[in-house]
Amino acid sequence: GTGRKRLIAGNWKMNCQRAAALELASSVVELSQASENADLLICVPSIHLADIEKCLQDSQVKLGAQDAHWAESGAYTGETSVSMLEDYRVQYLLVGHSERREMFGDSDERVANKFEAALKNGIKPILCIGESLEQREQGVTLDVLKSQVQAVIDRVGIKAFENAAIAYEPIWAIGTGVTATPEQAQEVHEQLRHWLATHDQAIADGLQILYGGSMNAANAETLLAQPDIDGGLIGGASLKADDFMKIYSVA
Ligand code: PEP
Repeated sequence: GTGRKRLIAGNWKMNCQRAAALELASSVVELSQASENADLLICVPSIHLADIEKCLQDSQVKLGAQDAHWAESGAYTGETSVSMLEDYRVQYLLVGHSERREMFGDSDERVANKFEAALKNGIKPILCIGESLEQREQGVTLDVLKSQVQAVIDRVGIKAFENAAIAYEPIWAIGTGVTATPEQAQEVHEQLRHWLATHDQAIADGLQILYGGSMNAANAETLLAQPDIDGGLIGGASLKADDFMKIYSVA
C-alpha cells in the first residue's frame, strides 16, 4: 500500500538438488515479467548460489540467501559468512526465520548480529518475526513482535531499517496450510507500523512489511490487497514456478 514497492520473496528452505534448483530458477526467470510495482526475489540454499547467480544474470529476479554467520571469517566449521554471500551478488538475507529460531538456536542476539553483518556488507536483511499459537491465544502477539524488532533496533538503530524489510510470519501459519486471514494479518501489520512510527515516522512509512505463512496462488490477492501488507515471503508455493509467478502477478 501507499507508494511502497512490493516484494515477492520465495524461501526455498532446504529443498532442490542442483538440477532441480537450476530448473526452478530458470522457470522463474522465464515466467517473470518486469513490474514497476513489485520486486521478485528467490532465497536459495547457499550451495546453489554460484549456479543460480549465473542463471539470474540479465534478469530482473533478485538473489537472496536464507542464513549466514555474522563473523567475517574464522573457526566456525560448516558456516558461511555474509561477506562470502556478497561475492555471489546476493542482495537479500533472511534473518530470524522461525525455523532457525526454533531449531538452530537463533536468539534475538544472534539475529541482531546477522542483521548488522548483512547491512555492513551491503545486503538487505529481511527480519522475520512471528508469534506462536500459544502466544496469540494469550493475547501477547504484538508484545512478542515488538521485542523481536526492538532487539535489532537496539543494535543497529531505527534508521538502519531504511535498508531492510520485515516479514511477519505467524508461526502457526508456516507450512501448515492455515493462513492468517487478511484482516488478522492487516491488523498486525498496521499495529506494527504504528509502533515503528513512534520510533521514526518516515522509516515506518517506507518500510516493506511482508506477510508469510501458507501464502499461495489462491489467497495471495486478498492478502496483498491490504494497505499495510507490502509483499509476501513464500515457502511451499515458491517451489512451483507457476504458483509463485501467479502470486507475483497479483502483487
Ligand atoms: C516461510 O518459510 O517463510 C513460509 C512462509 O513458508 P510457507 O509459505 O510454506 O508457509
